[in-house]
Amino acid sequence: METRHFHHALRISEELCTGCSHCMNVCPTEAIRVRKGKAILYENRCVDCGECFKVCPVKAINIDHDDFSRISTFKHRIALVPAVFIGQFPENISREQIYRAILACGFTQIYEVELGTILLVEQIRKYAEENPGIKPLISSFCPAIIRLIQVKFPSLVNNIMLLKPPLDITALYCRKLLTDQGVNPAEVGVFYFTPCAAKIAAIKSPVGEDYSMITGVINMDFIYNKVNKIIKNGLLNDEIPVPNLPLPGYAVRWTLTHGEADNIPGRSLAIDEIHNVIEFLEKVENEEISDIDFLELRACDESCAGGALNTTNRFLITERLRKKQPEIESIDNNTVVGIHQYEEYLQRRIFIKEIKPRSMMKLDEDMAEAMRKMDKVQMLMQVLPKTDCGACGSPNCQAFANDIVQGEASIRQCIFVQKSREHTGELTPEESLQILKEIWGNDKF
Ligand code: SF4
Ligand code: SF4
Repeated sequence: METRHFHHALRISEELCTGCSHCMNVCPTEAIRVRKGKAILYENRCVDCGECFKVCPVKAINIDHDDFSRISTFKHRIALVPAVFIGQFPENISREQIYRAILACGFTQIYEVELGTILLVEQIRKYAEENPGIKPLISSFCPAIIRLIQVKFPSLVNNIMLLKPPLDITALYCRKLLTDQGVNPAEVGVFYFTPCAAKIAAIKSPVGEDYSMITGVINMDFIYNKVNKIIKNGLLNDEIPVPNLPLPGYAVRWTLTHGEADNIPGRSLAIDEIHNVIEFLEKVENEEISDIDFLELRACDESCAGGALNTTNRFLITERLRKKQPEIESIDNNTVVGIHQYEEYLQRRIFIKEIKPRSMMKLDEDMAEAMRKMDKVQMLMQVLPKTDCGACGSPNCQAFANDIVQGEASIRQCIFVQKSREHTGELTPEESLQILKEIWGNDKF
């Protein structure tokens, strides 16, 4: 069992939160409760999928990233740019303009994250051949999915391919390249432009790795606004040489839905959006679905194009990226040759360590105590109305029963129980009102 602390990139501002419970209602792992009129996070359950961030109507949920000024502390400042960043911009803005503007922000070099897929695609096929007994193999690409499997589907952790995602392969490649050119590694800062919270969390506390090759993370919306401003204000310096970064078509599409699955032989399925993934994995876990060779699973709708930090509609990003593909493919292929020169070095380092489950469901470390608590949850479920109304401040009756057993809630918080007890005289209307205030805050009454 994995016991190391999980880093979470999401922060809920108590000051801004109105306790509307929208976040609690969409969270796929029941990681949010409302108490005293504010949302609170159960960290052991959160998988950093960003669903709560997307629905908060008052922007009370933030996704932490590194201070941009940190890049200036390095002599060699590398921007690791995912293809979806290019897809944020309208078609009349070229990739060259975007790269020129990134360099104008202070970076000294740019690498496209998907460069790593050039080696990864072969390695996935090989991994599948060498592990015929593991079905389905699950992609290690999306960190929110890895965390989801760790906490909610522990029996499937061994199905996750123990291969680095493209981001880590590319970071390893560009660091090695600079070191071989005589650069002091301490002078190299590698910064990733992230479309989602899960990648930040994965970089700050990697799963299957002791440390990350990435120095820092810059949120996509932040860097998009910076780059867009430079382009719009005509501040591009045409003298700055722009790197030639070619990518094969499959690499450009890798982060979109079907980007991986279409390249893996056998019966390969692509499933996006975290609730769809959960529905599917439940069937895999129950052995209702079998004989699938490979699963590409992504937490966001439309995969990385749907990341919470993107500034453009996910369908437009997908369309723009497909349209820009010929432009990206046509650039001369020095970089592809470059990564092939390091093939042996990178292949030897492409594996990650065993991924262990992290139980969020366990009621107690002690088995006998866990069984006793389980019985109590079942007894409570006989009493609770099973309407999943959420008025208790927990997302549904089952989660509420668990909260009671763990000492984090009282059965008097159930509005149905309150009404029954008022009827029998066990609670006064004033006492009921006071309980509701404790959940939803005084300002709601
Ligand atoms: S990031 Fe996802 S798992 Fe975490 S609290 Fe928000 S919705 Fe729930
Ligand atoms: S969505 Fe969640 S964090 Fe945002 S205001 Fe509502 S309860 Fe608070």
